[in-house]
Amino acid sequence: MNVTIVGGGLTGLTAAYYLGHAKPEWNITLYEQAPRFGGKIQTQRVDDFVVELGPDSYLGRKTEMTDLVHDLGLGDTLVSNETGQAFVYDEGSIHPIPGGSIMGIPTEMMPFVKATLISWSGKLRAGLDYFKKPYELDENGDVSIGHFFQYHLGQEMMDKLIEPLLAGIYGGDIYKISLLSTFPHFIQVEQKYGNMVKGMMAAKMGHSKAGVSKAAKGAVAEGDVPRAGKGIMTDRQFENHEAKSSQTASTNTSSNTSGHATNTSPHRQTSKVQADMASRKGTAAQSGMFRQLTGGLESVITAIVDAMPSNVHLYTGTLVSNIRYVEGMYAIDVENSGNDTCGCQSNANSIKTSSINTDSINADNKGGASGATTDSAIEVLLDKAPAMADHVIIATPPATYTQWFKDDPGFDFLRSMEQSSCAIAIMAFDKSTFDGDLKGSGLLITRKTDTPLTACTILNQKWPQTTPDDKVVLRVFIGKPGNDVVEQYSDEELSELAVEEIQHIMRFSAKPEWVRINRLIHCMPQYNVGHRAGIKAVREHVAENYPNLHLIGTPFDGIGIPDGVKQAKELVQMLVNEK
Ligand SMILES: Cc1cc2nc3c(=O)[nH]c(=O)nc-3n(C[C@H](O)[C@H](O)[C@H](O)COP(=O)(O)OP(=O)(O)OC[C@H]3O[C@@H](n4cnc5c(N)ncnc54)[C@H](O)[C@@H]3O)c2cc1C
Repeated sequence: MNVTIVGGGLTGLTAAYYLGHAKPEWNITLYEQAPRFGGKIQTQRVDDFVVELGPDSYLGRKTEMTDLVHDLGLGDTLVSNETGQAFVYDEGSIHPIPGGSIMGIPTEMMPFVKATLISWSGKLRAGLDYFKKPYELDENGDVSIGHFFQYHLGQEMMDKLIEPLLAGIYGGDIYKISLLSTFPHFIQVEQKYGNMVKGMMAAKMGHSKAGVSKAAKGAVAEGDVPRAGKGIMTDRQFENHEAKSSQTASTNTSSNTSGHATNTSPHRQTSKVQADMASRKGTAAQSGMFRQLTGGLESVITAIVDAMPSNVHLYTGTLVSNIRYVEGMYAIDVENSGNDTCGCQSNANSIKTSSINTDSINADNKGGASGATTDSAIEVLLDKAPAMADHVIIATPPATYTQWFKDDPGFDFLRSMEQSSCAIAIMAFDKSTFDGDLKGSGLLITRKTDTPLTACTILNQKWPQTTPDDKVVLRVFIGKPGNDVVEQYSDEELSELAVEEIQHIMRFSAKPEWVRINRLIHCMPQYNVGHRAGIKAVREHVAENYPNLHLIGTPFDGIGIPDGVKQAKELVQMLVNEK
């Protein structure tokens, strides 16, 4: 059986890894257009800093990623974020996020009453939700996040709390993003209890009894609803799961009979940097909801590439330019590609300004997952094109579907899916000269505040293992709907803008030692209202017309890292179960 996988981000690599092990007799080929594997996951070492240029962590409760990390023998490099108060910056003033709220929804009376962020009229309006009826959903049972919460909690709560919290995750327009595709749990809560405040209070009490109130509180600042969606665990379940996973991993290490190349991985915390960091900073036993690895997220990419079984052939620099279904097989056109993007546009640059010394930056991407294929290997491969495959797995962003099945409108929904843009500015300061107030883990910025910035994480406080002790590192997000600086500005201009704006917001004048900009243009798929129905129609179309074509990744069942891993693992399980 010949299998082709398109896309060497973590989702495609996970499918290749588990399928290769489960079906050693199958011949599996993965094509990645960029010169490196990993897609949006990209970690760089800048001297003693570990800098994430794309995603910076994953949600621990979605356990598939943690399982993969353990399977690769990297379990002992897992760390959790340090928890701390998060703040909201709203038009000139900074306020703590009210305690006891879950994703901005109040579940405790007193902290909400005392909150300085919301005015008395805003609080009263939110309280009136107690008497509201459920929102009338559209024919697909869907509604935008914005319209749903505006109806329940009022405009002020939307603007100051819900929008900065939820829009940040998807980087899009909250009045377009589907509640059904992102937080279906809220619809269930509303339908069960009649309105949100009553429902969340009841859910909170239930969670407290189940021992998850800590997680519920953490969710306020950290971007997910406990038990929302499938595969999410309570804190206690999660701790048990992690303990079991690491036990299994250590058992496997001593007696690995599975034939997997895992656990013998050279990436098991062997590098000096990783060892130093692990000894100096946090461990997975800490209470934050997010997970990272001491070697950065890209250490997973490096490890999975190294641990790939021999029946899997990986190619970088190979663009799949067309896929055709011909007489029961798939013909795959592959071209040589020098493209250094991840199917959208992404580029990272160090910025040199008069105040910023980049000469001292040694960004050599040591832990990097280049896995680059040689030119001669690509030539041999391209000689044989088009490649023929019995199964095709596509694990690429939605816009890539403009290249394939061009005459088939059954894929139009994917082709027309919006993707939002953002830029990340990472800036390092000397701690001894930093004159700002460094409280908590960071702040969110309301959309109506006149700035293109949407959030700032204080990395040395949230992820201390990424930063030398004498430095402060800020990770600033730029870009929101209606503001096109990310597309229009040069890297130098973006860097200057990010520094000036964050100095103003956090009230400091210290100059960064270096700034690193990663611009991610059209990189975040938008699950707009109707997303679930659209995806269902695409899947039905594929099931009817394209046997053994499998579509996974960010366009479908979740945009986060664990969502892609889960889809890949479920697909492999399905293929293994097929007769
Ligand atoms: C700014 C930003 C911040 C994020 N933060 C987080 C976070 O903190 N936590 C989290 O869980 N998730 C986060 N995410 C989401 C996370 O990055 C994705 O879930 C994850 O990286 C998706 O992996 P993937 O393999 O499915 O897709 P990708 O990483 O997009 O990989 C797809 C691959 O397909 C390749 N490709 C495309 N077209 C072709 C072609 N024609 N031929 C061959 N190869 C092709 C691309 O080059 C790419 O390598 C963030 C995303 C962005 C944009």
